[in-house]
Amino acid sequence: MTGIQKAFVSIGTPNDDFQSLFATHPSPMWVYDPDTLGFLIVNNAAVELYGYSLQEYAGMTVLDIRPAHERRRMLDAVHGRTDMEKAERWTHLKANGEMLEVLTYGRAVRFDGRDAILAIVQDRTEVNAAHREVSDTRSLLDSIVDNLPVGVFVKDMAEEGRYILFNEACGTIVGRDPIDVVGKSDLGIFDRKQAAAFWAQDTKAFTASSTVSVEETIRRTDGESRILRTVKRTLPAPDGSLPRYLLGISQDVTEERSVEARLAYMAMHDALTGLPNRAFFSEHIERAAKIATAETAIALLYLDVDHFKHINDSKGHAAGDALLCQVAARLTKLAGEGDLVARLGGDEFALLVRLDQAGSIERFAERLLNSLSTPFNLDGANEHVTCSIGIAIAPDHADDDDVLMRHADLALYAAKESGRSTYRFYEPTMRLEAERRHMLTVELRDALLKGQFELYYQPIIQLDDDGLGGFEALIRWRHPQRGLIPPMDFIPVAEETGLIVPIGEWVLREACRTAAQWPQHLKIAVNLSVCQFRHNSLLASVVSALDESGLHPGRLEIEITESVFLADVEQSLPLLRALKELGIRIAIDDFGTGYSSFSYLRAFAFDKIKLDRSFVAGIETDPGNLAIVRAVVGIGSGFNATTLAEGVETEEQLQRLQAEGFGEVQGFLLGRPMPRAEAEAVINGGASRLLSVARG
Ligand code: C2E
Ligand code: MG
Ligand code: MG
Repeated sequence: MTGIQKAFVSIGTPNDDFQSLFATHPSPMWVYDPDTLGFLIVNNAAVELYGYSLQEYAGMTVLDIRPAHERRRMLDAVHGRTDMEKAERWTHLKANGEMLEVLTYGRAVRFDGRDAILAIVQDRTEVNAAHREVSDTRSLLDSIVDNLPVGVFVKDMAEEGRYILFNEACGTIVGRDPIDVVGKSDLGIFDRKQAAAFWAQDTKAFTASSTVSVEETIRRTDGESRILRTVKRTLPAPDGSLPRYLLGISQDVTEERSVEARLAYMAMHDALTGLPNRAFFSEHIERAAKIATAETAIALLYLDVDHFKHINDSKGHAAGDALLCQVAARLTKLAGEGDLVARLGGDEFALLVRLDQAGSIERFAERLLNSLSTPFNLDGANEHVTCSIGIAIAPDHADDDDVLMRHADLALYAAKESGRSTYRFYEPTMRLEAERRHMLTVELRDALLKGQFELYYQPIIQLDDDGLGGFEALIRWRHPQRGLIPPMDFIPVAEETGLIVPIGEWVLREACRTAAQWPQHLKIAVNLSVCQFRHNSLLASVVSALDESGLHPGRLEIEITESVFLADVEQSLPLLRALKELGIRIAIDDFGTGYSSFSYLRAFAFDKIKLDRSFVAGIETDPGNLAIVRAVVGIGSGFNATTLAEGVETEEQLQRLQAEGFGEVQGFLLGRPMPRAEAEAVINGGASRLLSVARG
């Protein structure tokens, strides 16, 4: 038994019960002497908690269980009795050196006949640690919430929607300091209208059982508009009962939306001109055609730049692009508000106009043609361009968008056919014409298989010696029902469908084979279509026609029109040169009727210029035509090309042409195109006979 234990027995007004309560009380307790600060009595819990034995306690003061920095405070507290009757926080030292966080409760007592202090200790170490952990967790959460890249806010709906949480990202999005926001409701932050919109969303989200997602454009304090996507859901009150809070997670989707809008715009617009594109147009016309009535009729105008390819080829793609942009600008300027101008691709534009706006659609089309006839500025040079327009009206011509578009297309085709630089309205005959073309295509294919084509030969007379120079091969179609069909009735369709390629090959072979049987000095002229120049097989076909027939290349003359130069010059020119290199002669046909740019005369050395018969007609009386005839003779001698006049029908024309110095003539006066047998009869009879017949 130690002294301290004996002392324990005689505490206060000792009785056994009290002593046993003191000894076994779960709270560590001791009584110490306020003068010496020595322990007078210590209970079991204190022995256990602190790890000092009773012997050790007997020799210790209450300062010994405190770290050095707490001792001064302890002395002051004992002297001033300041920690009496109330809980005080202390740090105590255990025997093993560990720190204890404790609350002590001091009380003045009488012990062993003197004044003493009873200290009751509550170990707070674990409780404090738990608290610290909670508060650490809280501040960690706070910092996570604040650093989240999305806006997070919580409103207390029981408090008029006041914000109780508004993280940094929220602040950045709306351009506010979160400190200014927390505690306020939307009305204190946003304008009335905006606040009302939020409140409506909030109440909806609050009554909905699931999350509500809303997108809202807000105007920030700096005046900038931002698009906010917010997911809102309710949170229960802390007791877990009724919903009370509204949790919102907001994202600034402004950039996302603008990228989406940009992509959507790009998908629907033409990058070059900025006009709506075909996709946009299709969507729009579908709707427009559906709702068009007699009172709200609409006109669809398809507009195509005539010979655009020529400009693209001759001036370069940059100039072509510039032209398209200028056309687009002029169309847009003329279109009324609410009308649609679209670029469908290439040089094709569409306008969808309301008739009540356009006034008379004829006048509108004329205004368009007029506006486009003003020269365009391409690279500082003035370029004249014309356009063709096809017009269909809904509901007059069609009540559905597909039909309307088809009809406008047919009208455009008709405008092109009727010489371009004009407009045409859809007419039912155009559809019939289209059907006819379709039928014709089917029949042409069949004709090729069944050998229904024939070649007629028209004599070409050399004026210097009145001799027969050769023949031009001209195709005919002997149709089983319709009889002999002239080329103008089927060649255009064959060109459109590409059938001209196999037909042209047949002509080449047939013409070469026939001419190969004729005297060596006679030439054979064969007409080639521009489409054949776009086909890679042309050169090979010519070579094989010559090989098969054994015809000397110098006897073959190929006639092309200026349109070859309107098409792809880069492809045509090398082909022409290659043909010429084979020894074949190249003639320019229908001279003077086409685009009439003299540049191609320089670009390629033609062997022959065939003046179109429209200039021959009336040379007797028309001084203009005579002037042209003279000019062509000059050009021919300048470029060292033979000159030939087509369509000579009268003796007078013949004499004039001879007087002007034309090299060759061709025309009904000297012989119509005739079947092979007749042509061979002419060969055998001699051309002088023809001429003498012609000259009476
Ligand atoms: P083209 O090459 O200019 O042929 C001359 C056309 O003028 C021929 O018409 C001929 O019959 C006509 N003609 C000749 N002399 C006179 C005349 O004195 N007065 C009048 N009024 N006409 C005259 P055709 O045979 O109907 O051929 C028309 C066009 O068809 C040709 O014009 C040519 O461009 C094209 N063509 C003919 N055969 C072929 C062919 O095999 N292939 C290709 N691609 N086109 C062809
Ligand atoms: Mg010809
Ligand atoms: Mg001709």
